[in-house]
Amino acid sequence: MSHLTDSLATRCLLLGAIGDALGAPIEFNKAEYIERTYGVEPPEDLAFEGPAPARFTDDTQMTLFMAEGLHRALDAGVAGEREAFRQIMADSLVDWLATQDRRVLEELEDSRSELLKFEDLHKRRAPGNTCLTSCYHMHRGGHLPDVDARINDSKGCGAIMRSAPFGLWAESAEQAFGWALDSGVLTHCHPSGYLSGAYFAAMIFELARGQDFDQAMARADALLAREPEAQETQAAVEAARRVTRFGTLSFDDMVTLGEGWVGEESLAVALAVARTADISTQDGIREALWLAVRHSGDSDSTGAIAGNLIGAMCADEAMPARWLEQLEMREAFELSI
Ligand SMILES: [Mg+2]
Repeated sequence: MSHLTDSLATRCLLLGAIGDALGAPIEFNKAEYIERTYGVEPPEDLAFEGPAPARFTDDTQMTLFMAEGLHRALDAGVAGEREAFRQIMADSLVDWLATQDRRVLEELEDSRSELLKFEDLHKRRAPGNTCLTSCYHMHRGGHLPDVDARINDSKGCGAIMRSAPFGLWAESAEQAFGWALDSGVLTHCHPSGYLSGAYFAAMIFELARGQDFDQAMARADALLAREPEAQETQAAVEAARRVTRFGTLSFDDMVTLGEGWVGEESLAVALAVARTADISTQDGIREALWLAVRHSGDSDSTGAIAGNLIGAMCADEAMPARWLEQLEMREAFELSI
């Protein structure tokens, strides 16, 4: 297997942000409306609903904060110590919360986060209620949520959509899976919420190191099979495999996987899109990402997750150049690598 390079990590995070920004203007629209208004071909511009730059949402904001927290844990040498690791990730989630609530920002004692210096990150982009509520719980000194200390039963896609960094910087698929699980459960305590994120992080680990897509899925399957309460996530993965068994994905088949509001459905949609994407050309990737977002559900999140997966596989020349030029805040990604 090849080693992870900075440029590969950059592509993974940037293409996730592109998928997020592509889906953001149509997150709350029905598929019929999207098709009638914009068509089935991808738009020329990433900023197709307003002036450039195109804006990403809470999915990418939180991914950047997870990358920063993970680097902080690695620098401190505690990425292998579960509770210390979880505390740092909880702190990073509260850092993100500070971008959503100025009172929280004022209450933070030290400025441990470089990301907080980006004024453009201090924007509300339709953050999920579960993420907000869980982060407030931790900010107010509540216990760190865990598998045996749950604070909710949410399986929203807020854990998976921020989990790509764990796959990028882990030393094994098992570690990526564990990191994503341990930090996902801080906000989403339903197994399908945190296990979908763990599966996704293991996929990112494998794909970023040159593993074949089906082999990567087989390895992530094996990690998932060891977990209790994994049946729902396993069923979603199997559904994604089934609708793509001939190497293609139709829109009608994709929507049978669900709308992506919950973790296991967003995982299934992103897996199905990434498994069948033509990642060799910019047009192929643009078509795949447009397919990933033009449904009636959580378009920005399925776009972000599919974008992370494809970005972990594609070459630099296949990155959609025009869309990339129109993406906001490119400098924040350099800080996160
Ligand atoms: Mg979002």
